[in-house]
Amino acid sequence: MRPPHLLLTLFLAGITAAAPSAAAAQSTANCPDCPTWNAPTAPFHLFGNTYYVGTRGLSALLVTSPEGHVLIDAGLPESAPLIAGSIRALGFRVEDVRVILNSHVHFDHAGGIAELQRMSGAEVVASAASAPVLERGTVGRDDPQFGAVASIARVARVRVIPAGDTVQVGSLQLRALRTAGHTPGGTSWTWTTCEGETCWAIVYGDSQSAISADGFLFSRSTTYPRVLEDFEAGFTALEQVRCDVLVTPHPDATGLWARLARREGGEREAMRDPGACKRYAATARERLAQRVASERERKP
Ligand SMILES: [Zn+2]
Repeated sequence: MRPPHLLLTLFLAGITAAAPSAAAAQSTANCPDCPTWNAPTAPFHLFGNTYYVGTRGLSALLVTSPEGHVLIDAGLPESAPLIAGSIRALGFRVEDVRVILNSHVHFDHAGGIAELQRMSGAEVVASAASAPVLERGTVGRDDPQFGAVASIARVARVRVIPAGDTVQVGSLQLRALRTAGHTPGGTSWTWTTCEGETCWAIVYGDSQSAISADGFLFSRSTTYPRVLEDFEAGFTALEQVRCDVLVTPHPDATGLWARLARREGGEREAMRDPGACKRYAATARERLAQRVASERERKP
């Protein structure tokens, strides 16, 4: 199960995908951004035991061990065969994926989970608020985008993990950070991986954008009254976590392709940015404040 030494070189031009919007997310079939998000891209070695296996616009990470692997996120339903192909291209077996994790339950990050679970036989591990959504295939009324996001294929065998707990597969340990707000069950994942003496904390930081269906007000929601507190708790968690490398569900949101291009250009530590999680949280807090301010003029 050891990966062959791979040299996957790819010149990556800076493509900026549009930010996800509720309007764009009606369904996979009616999603103007989806073809761009789902464009294939070569998988690459991120650091240590961690690999990027997502598409050009939707991240998926593979954390590997001799005892089996963990896959985080699965893109759109249409992304599943691309992710499986990327896992194989790196020299790993899809059947060795033992656990699938998710950032949040929207169709552009969870849409491929059911299919990848079918292919791998993996268990799916999710937060208490995300698990029933994955099992049902539809988001709850408490989701800010309720009514505006497509449903997903129902996922079987979802195990609930409490916030702060650790998922273990062999020697792998990935910790769940509750970073809700974008969805009630939003989760970031963090683990440490080493190359020789150098160990980096990787953070897969969930989406922190205050996007909603028409009519949802973050400042006075009756369906998700704790949304602002949840966002703030998540920002604090992201500010406090050790963070050498940040990857986000939409890779462009944190400049992954630009960092990869710099690394390809010879800057060996271009992926590392210890301030990235703090800046990610600060920007999201600022945007949420703007959104809340804009809601003052709106009728409930
Ligand atoms: Zn989302």
